[in-house]
Parts: sequence; C-alpha cells; structure tokens
Amino acid sequence: MSETKYIFVTGGVASSLGKGIISASLGKLLQARGYRVTIQKFDPYINIDPGTLNPFEHGECYVTADGTETDLDLGHYERFLNIQTHRVNNVTSGRIYQEVINKERRGDYLGTTVQVIPHITNEIKENILYLGNSGDFDFVITEIGGTVGDIESLPFIESIRQLRWEMGRNCINIHLTYVPYLKAAGELKTKPTQHSVKELQQEGVQPDIIVLRTEHPISQQMRHKVALFCNVEYDAVIESADMKTIYEVPIRMQEEGLDRIVLRKLGIEDTRKAEMDDWNMFLNKLKNAHRSVRIGLVGKYVRLSDAYKSIIESLIHASAYNDRKLDLRLILSEDITRDNAKEKLADLDGIIIAPGFGERGMEGKIEAARYARENNITCLGICFGMQCMAIEFARNVLGLTDAHSTEVAENTSNPVIDIMESQKNVVDMGGTMRLGSFECRLRANTKVHRIYGSDTIFERHRHRYEFNSDYAERFERNGMVLSGSNPKTNLTEIIELADPKHWYIGVQFHPEYSSTVLRPHPLFIDFIRNAIH
Ligand code: GLN
Repeated sequence: MSETKYIFVTGGVASSLGKGIISASLGKLLQARGYRVTIQKFDPYINIDPGTLNPFEHGECYVTADGTETDLDLGHYERFLNIQTHRVNNVTSGRIYQEVINKERRGDYLGTTVQVIPHITNEIKENILYLGNSGDFDFVITEIGGTVGDIESLPFIESIRQLRWEMGRNCINIHLTYVPYLKAAGELKTKPTQHSVKELQQEGVQPDIIVLRTEHPISQQMRHKVALFCNVEYDAVIESADMKTIYEVPIRMQEEGLDRIVLRKLGIEDTRKAEMDDWNMFLNKLKNAHRSVRIGLVGKYVRLSDAYKSIIESLIHASAYNDRKLDLRLILSEDITRDNAKEKLADLDGIIIAPGFGERGMEGKIEAARYARENNITCLGICFGMQCMAIEFARNVLGLTDAHSTEVAENTSNPVIDIMESQKNVVDMGGTMRLGSFECRLRANTKVHRIYGSDTIFERHRHRYEFNSDYAERFERNGMVLSGSNPKTNLTEIIELADPKHWYIGVQFHPEYSSTVLRPHPLFIDFIRNAIH
C-alpha cells in the first residue's frame, strides 16, 4: 500500500470497555489479510509512564523488549499480533508535555507563547505519525485512553480532528461505547451512546464506525436508531457482545464485518480474505478443552486480576496448548501462613508466585514457596516470586533463619537478595529499574535448558534487586541449581531445584511479557504440562 492509513479508536460512556481488545482484534484481522499493522496507545494522564503507578490504578505495568514501562494494552497488542512494540507505541500526556517544555527551554519556540494549540497538539500529532512515517506499516491503529469528554483527553481529540482534516480519506475514527441494559424496563438503551457521540462531534470529530459494547444482542431497529442519530451508516454500527474469551473477539468482529467496513471507509479494495486458520486452531483448543488444570496464583494484588494480566493470559495460552482449561485460583499472599499454607494451597496442580514490591504479603509468598518445595508441587516463581523462593531456601534448607531481601530488611545479616550494584546510586524512581530484554545463558543439563532447547535466551526484566552471588556455592551444594545467568554481569537469572522429579523454577525475568497466542511461552507450556502429570 502506498500510503499509511490511520485508524483512531476512541471510547465513550465508560472506561474499561475494551478499546484495547477491539484495537488488537482489528489489528489482527488486518494483519491476517497480509497488511503490516502496528498499534499504539496514547494515555491522557500526566505520569511519564505507568511505571510508578500502583497496579490497582490501571492494572499491570507491561514492559516492552526495549525496556519501556507501558500500559497493559500493549500486552494485548503483542499477544494478538505476535509483534513487538516499543517506547513509541505508548505515549502519555506527561511525555508530550515534558517534550514541549524541554523544547521551550532549549529555545525551539523562541519568541512565541507556548500553548496547548498548536504546540501540545503538534507534539501529539508528530508522535501519532511517527510510526507511520517510518514506511514500515500499512495501518497504524491509535487507541486513545480514557473517555471522550474528559478534560485531559481534549488535546488528543483535538489532534485527531486536525489530522482528519489534513489527511482526508487516509484516516478514520472508530468510537466504542456502552449500551446499558435496564433490567426493570427490560431494555437496552442507546441514549448514552448518542450523548457520547454528540460530545465527540462537539469536539469536532465525526465517528465513521461505532462499536457498541453490550451484554445483550442489539436489534436491527436499534442499529438503525444509532446510525440515524449518530450520522453513521447502518452497517458501520457494530455489535460487540460479551464473549467468553477475549480471543473470540477478532472472530466476532470479522463476522460483524469490522475489517471490511474499515477498508471500505479508507477506500481500499476488499480483495484478500483474513487468514485466521492458526488463530482458529488456538481458539478451538481453548474452547474444546474440557479437563481443567488448577493453578494458584499467589500475589498481593489479586483483588484486581488486571494486575496480573500477562501472567494470566500466558497461563491461558499454555493451558489451551496442553488441551486444558485454566482453573485459576487467585490467592492473596497476605493470607498465607505456615499454619494454613496446606489448606490455602490444597488441591492445586501448580503454583505461580507472583512478582511484586515491598513487604506486604511477602512472608505469605515465602510460605507458598516452602509448601511447594516440600510437597513436590510444580511451582514457578517470577521476579519477586523467584526472590522469595531463594529466601525460603536459604532460611529453611541452609538454616539461615534471618535470610531476607534488603528491599524489605535493609540490615539483615543474610542478604540473599540484595540491591544490584548498578542500582545503588539511583535516586529517581521513574524508569530507572533494570528494564527490558537481556541475554541469559542457560547451563547445560538443567530443566530450563531442556525447556528452552537453547543455550541462550532473551527475556524482559523489571527489578532493582538480585540474587546475591555470595550465596551461590551454598545454594548449589544443597540442591538449588543456578541454571541461568547474564553473560556480561554474571547476575543469576534462574534458579531451579536439582531434584529431577520436581519442577520448581524461579526466574528473575518476566516470561509472561512475551507469550503470544501463536507463540505461547515455553516456560508456561512446560509448567502446565508438568502440572497436569
Ligand atoms: N521488588 C523486586 C525488585 O525490585 C522484584 C520486582 C518485580 O517483581 N518485578 O527486585
């Protein structure tokens, strides 16, 4: 395709309607027609990135291979499209303002008053066009976070308005809204949609396609009504009903004709068919798995499952590939004690000890690690989870009862987990962890070497603390193998029990960030495979 086409996805009525899933689904369908597609997210909040946010705020912080802490929707983009995203795929208001203020200080705007329009909007537009200008993509899908009508999203909508004016037929807007069902009246209501479209129109943007998120089927009559009131064509009113799994959404959107209408609106001939065979194969496995695998996820943010989005999706992928349905138990780590561990963790086929920060729930994670180790339960510790495994091993096997991480007990006499040398002088908290993809060498004849089938792997990181190599020898002598390490720094990245019959592995990195539908992560696949045997 000669010119890059831009698709903007906005949302109205309420947040959390699944703009990310709709964007990823459309991206998948276009990609499956042979187009080169990327997706980016613009978040209107002032934080430079979500790295400093509590996961209860916007869910998990997703880390890209280039070490950017991003919104969790980028995880959906990567999982659906099997692509890698980068720093440029997630831009916040904070980044935009910071850039404009830096330019102002540099004197780039000498003599002028720096204003939201045009300076902030120009910066937003430049960022929106950045990926498209590379010439690498036929379609750039841009999801705008938040809800139309929010004060903070105004500059983004204004930028879309200007771009539409400048680009004409090369861009369209898809607006996702919610159609509530009033139980007492027994009716679905389109009024909130009408209002939200009005709001968008007031800001100068006319949607081309409206996607209605709904818990009940939308009648033809209602589609006509929305089309009439919102100035869109009848077949550009798309129903997005609740699905059992998010992985069904692309297929639903294909049935609704979303990709077809997008092409028509952008003036592209509809010649190829979306090739979704691989996807459907996965979906069939997912839907037809009747036997289940019970996995306990031990963490402190379990109240909000979005906080562990990538881990849960990785488990779903791996379970499906093992013809199992994931029966996930979210277990609050704070509730686990030595006395109740057996009862809290009973009947599980496998345990994941989650990443995390700080003291809350840490002892519970350590108890879960002990219970899994002593009872031969398949167990994967991720990042902080791996660190808890190491502390547990030091305390209960090596007899170092005060073993700890200096993150929580600064003055422990046995800092089995200690701050990384490179982190010691870090003062700023934002974007300063050990972030992104690093090389890891796997030791021959270890579980991970067999699982990955490779001597060298690359995995993504997000941490400040590490396994303290002063304890390496004692760990090895007592049955914990340090099976993966960074070739440059020698940092220990993987620990595993030497016992060949016990699948007990802790990884300092985050394998969950790189599991995709078509390329599920080997570590998760093997974890589930082992859990069911
Ligand atoms: N808090 C730990 C560290 O900073 C682990 C971080 C994590 O689990 N992502 O090293």
